[in-house]
Amino acid sequence: MTRAADATASPVKEFDAVVVGAGFAGLYMLHRLRGLGLSARVYEAGGGIGGTWYWNRYPGARCDVESMDYSYSFSEELQQEWKWTERYASQPEILRYIEHVADRFDLRRDIELKTRVASAIWDETANRWEVRTDRGDRVFAQFCIMATGCLSTAQTPAFKGLETFGGTWNHTGTWPHEGVDFTGQRVGVIGTGSSAIQSIPIIARQAASLVVFQRTPNFSVPAHNAPLDRDFEGRVKANYAEYRRQARESRVGFVVASNDTSALAATPEERLREYEARWNRGGLGFSAAFSDLLVSKDANDTAAAFFHDKIRSIVRDPAIAEMLSPTGYPIGTKRMCVDTDYYATFNRDNVRLVDLRKHPIEAITPRGLRTRDAEYELDSIVFAIGFDAMTGALLGIDIRGRDGLTLGQKWAAGPRTYLGIAIAGFPNLFAITGPGSPSVLSNMIVSIEQHVDWIADCLVHLRAHGLHRIEATVDAEEAWVAHVNEVGHATLYPRANSWYMGANVPGKPRVFMPYVGGVGAYRQRCSDVAAKGYTGFSLASA
Ligand code: NAP
Repeated sequence: MTRAADATASPVKEFDAVVVGAGFAGLYMLHRLRGLGLSARVYEAGGGIGGTWYWNRYPGARCDVESMDYSYSFSEELQQEWKWTERYASQPEILRYIEHVADRFDLRRDIELKTRVASAIWDETANRWEVRTDRGDRVFAQFCIMATGCLSTAQTPAFKGLETFGGTWNHTGTWPHEGVDFTGQRVGVIGTGSSAIQSIPIIARQAASLVVFQRTPNFSVPAHNAPLDRDFEGRVKANYAEYRRQARESRVGFVVASNDTSALAATPEERLREYEARWNRGGLGFSAAFSDLLVSKDANDTAAAFFHDKIRSIVRDPAIAEMLSPTGYPIGTKRMCVDTDYYATFNRDNVRLVDLRKHPIEAITPRGLRTRDAEYELDSIVFAIGFDAMTGALLGIDIRGRDGLTLGQKWAAGPRTYLGIAIAGFPNLFAITGPGSPSVLSNMIVSIEQHVDWIADCLVHLRAHGLHRIEATVDAEEAWVAHVNEVGHATLYPRANSWYMGANVPGKPRVFMPYVGGVGAYRQRCSDVAAKGYTGFSLASA
């Protein structure tokens, strides 16, 4: 489309800020921008708001961070008045919460749904971004804020023969709104990450038969989900500000009972007691059982062995238990899963497990799926194959910074940012929970609020000082990337072929993308940068 033709198609508009995405991050950013008296437009590709929680409607979709933690803290009235029903909120409940927030703060009037941002091009002379959408909008904004999410670009299933499949197929990350009724069907699920592990027990109860195609087994801890304990809710709400403060200063954005001792210093009995207690409590707190689980392979092996024993104690067929037991990577270095009845599901007569490492998929066929050794007749296939994480959504937009540098060129060898918020060469562009920040290693809402508040404070600073542009310096970015790498490589994380490393997307550069230094320490660092007048950034009035 030419510029001239496009310009006549819709009137040119100018905003202080364009925000890309209307999930938790985009909504709160809009709220803050409004509060500063700035004009903003939010573009959202989905037909509704909610981001992750709009798209991921697969059976059993639920947050693995507890609901009293996985919620906004910016409004005392909101956090006091909203009543979660369960310890871990389900996708429909989280979406209802997001809708409530949008209505309560009157956010919808600045959000354009079903509109995907196609390009964002920096105009050096005007100090502003030119943003174009797939619906022909062409707008200008001084600031462009990417609230595009870390797990929002679903991997396209690239299986030979998929177009010939006679049944129906869906990706967990783009699930049909009307749901899928598997009653009486022969179903195949490909993948055994968090999405699969949540949906498999439910699909197994509904379907006539279920075949799970597993490439890499995952460590999964029981959720022990239950109606929210009203005494606990009361205690938290009586002191919510303090509860939130502790979460912000914690390592992962919610408070877990941490243990300063090494797993190797504990006796086998002490270890077992600690692991049992964590297993019985349920949830992601397992990783904090000992201080060295993510830095010492020997320590980590003790936790892995505990899981293997658990799997053997639940799964009756020893061969299946063996197949479900992860061995090729340290526990916790691929995102740990939180489940309800996952391992027990493999005791059902209608469920089979296929090891794709031994029996690779050759093709999807008109009647089902063929591995090297067998053909499985299927009515429905569920692709639970994950996302082009952390960089996919950003690189899906044609972003061009100074001198026409594209983000794709800049990140050809992997993402490079300063603090995960800013990118040298891309002035006045902010990423909320971008690569190089704690993001996916944390409670996302805590990290989102921290970034949004930091960006809002930055805009106030610029305005107060008559400044019009801010850009990370190359030196600061270099140093930050080196620090992120150093901290990451001091842990066991890089030993796994995980989506943290980009390993799940063929051809993606292998870089450990999130910052593992801890939410509290990271927040302090960002605050120091701001307090010292935005060290590592160049600021200019023209
Ligand atoms: P995922 O963790 O990336 O899992 C994808 C699964 O598909 C893996 O088992 C992967 O195997 C497999 N796979 C990918 N490509 C494949 C191929 N070509 N052939 C065969 N198998 C293939 O994706 P996800 O389960 O959607 O979860 C992504 C992240 O979203 C989670 O880690 C979590 O952070 C978040 N999430 C959270 C929740 C929650 O809060 N409870 C729920 C869902 C998702 P390999 O391991 O071998 O690559």
